[in-house]
Amino acid sequence: MADVTGPISTLPGASHSVPKGQKCDQHRRRPAVARIQGETDSMGSEMIDMCQECLNRHIAWKKSPEAAEHRKGTCEWCKNPADDLRDRRDFEEGMSGRIYRVCGACVKKEDEQLAAEMDEFENSLDDSYDDDDGLD
Ligand SMILES: [Zn+2]
Ligand SMILES: [Zn+2]
Repeated sequence: MADVTGPISTLPGASHSVPKGQKCDQHRRRPAVARIQGETDSMGSEMIDMCQECLNRHIAWKKSPEAAEHRKGTCEWCKNPADDLRDRRDFEEGMSGRIYRVCGACVKKEDEQLAAEMDEFENSLDDSYDDDDGLD
C-alpha cells in the first residue's frame, strides 16, 4: 500500500527510496523497484510504488504524446496558454505550499528574479568584506 506523506518539499514525479519489502501498487505480488511521488498538495503527497514493468510504463508515458498533451494548458501565474507547463511552488509560500501549473517563461522569470536577489545579497556582503587583493 502506498503511503501518504506529511507536508513535503519535493514535487510530483520525484523519485524516493523504496521501503524494504514494498510491493507494487498495481501488482501486489511483485516487489516495488521505484517509488514515485504522485499527487501533492500542502498537506502531503501520495507515493506510487512500481514494479519494473510499471516503472517502464511510467517512463514510456513521460515520453509519450499524451504526456506532452498533459503539459498544455493555461499558466496559473501569467494566465497565458502554454505547452510547457510544469509544477512549481510559489517561493513566497515556502517549500510545502501549494503547487501551481506554470509555464517555462514564468519559471525562468522567477529564477532570474531569485538569482538577481541572490546577487544583491552577495554584493552587499562583498561590500563589507571586499579588500581587493589584486592577486588574480
Ligand atoms: Zn507493477
Ligand atoms: Zn506563465
